[in-house]
Parts: sequence; structure tokens; C-alpha cells
Amino acid sequence: MKKVLFAVLLSGFGSLSDAQVSKKKLPCYDLKQIMKVEVTPLYKPHLDAARSFGVKLLEDASMVQKYIANGKLKKIKKTGKGYRIQKLDYSRPYMVSKAKSMLEKMGARFSKETGGHTFTVSSLTRTLEDQCRLRRVNANAAIGISSHNYGNSFDISYIRFNDVLKYNPKMEIALEKVLQYYLKKGMILYIKEKQQSCYHITIRNY
Ligand SMILES: [Zn+2]
Repeated sequence: MKKVLFAVLLSGFGSLSDAQVSKKKLPCYDLKQIMKVEVTPLYKPHLDAARSFGVKLLEDASMVQKYIANGKLKKIKKTGKGYRIQKLDYSRPYMVSKAKSMLEKMGARFSKETGGHTFTVSSLTRTLEDQCRLRRVNANAAIGISSHNYGNSFDISYIRFNDVLKYNPKMEIALEKVLQYYLKKGMILYIKEKQQSCYHITIRNY
């Protein structure tokens, strides 16, 4: 690998500084530092729930592949009754079975309540590497462990319905009603995230 890199440098990419080269080789996150970040009382139950499904902290794509191969992480369809998955740049459309079926239930319920409208899922499973990439474009992205790192959380936008980005209080109320329904049944936890205009949802191991 070193040889290849050296050859590349010689062949015209000499503008890369030594600092840039060594930065490339290091992992983009420091697990020790990440673990040290204090978890807020509001967020703690999400992490506890996310960790109760037997999926280890997802660090990179190869770990995700491993869980896909052993059937623990299931592929989420791009569209379903009542929901759409947004184009994903920093997350992956895979979740544990219970989260997958909860998303489908929520979509079906939302569709029924609203007479056929759809909500948009803006984020699903993220690895620590995905989080690094996200942080490069969004300085507000959390530094610590996220419940998205366990294949068991997803975000639903409250400003995008029927694939249209627009404030829509009627749809937002209908969505919150669906969330309340599953919250009261003890099946989910959720937080309204103002900065990202979404509901962050974690499935409980009910
Ligand atoms: Zn989230």
C-alpha cells in the first residue's frame, strides 16, 4: 500500500502534503473520545433501547455487511405504504427486524389516518465512519455515540410530506399522532429534533 501511495505521489499528485497523507491513514474517529462524551438524560433511554438488540456498535461498512450476511440487519424498501426513504448520503437503509416492521406499521397507519399521504425517512443506520463524513458537512452532527449506530433508529422529517419540502402543520400533527400511539404502547421512543427538522425514533425491544 505504501509503495502504491508513493508511486501516486511521484506521478503528479505531489501537492498532497505529508499531513494530508497521514490523516488519510488514521481512522476518522477516536473511540475512546467518543465513549467519553456525556449522554443527556433525554437521549440515554434511546441508547439503552438501541443496545438491547444484540447489534454491536457499528464502526464501518464491513460490520454492517457482517450483520446483513447473518440476517440481523434487514434491507428497508425505498418506498412503502405511507412512507418514502429520502436519498441517503450518510446512512444506510438497513435495520433490525423490529425497527423495519415498526417503520412499515407507522407508514400504514399514517397513510390510513391521512387518506393516502406519505412521510419521508431522512436517516437510518449510520456507522461511526458515516458520522465522520456527516460531521464534515454538518458541524452540528453529534460527536458521541448515536442510537443510529446500532441499526435501530431512524429519523422522519416533519417538513417533508408527499416528497415536497414544505411546512405542513396538518401532516405534522397526523405524524405526531402516529408516534404518540406507538409511544403509549411502549414500542418506541422519540425526540423532536429542531435542528434537523425531524423526529428521531428508536424502537424498544418490546
Ligand atoms: Zn436521529
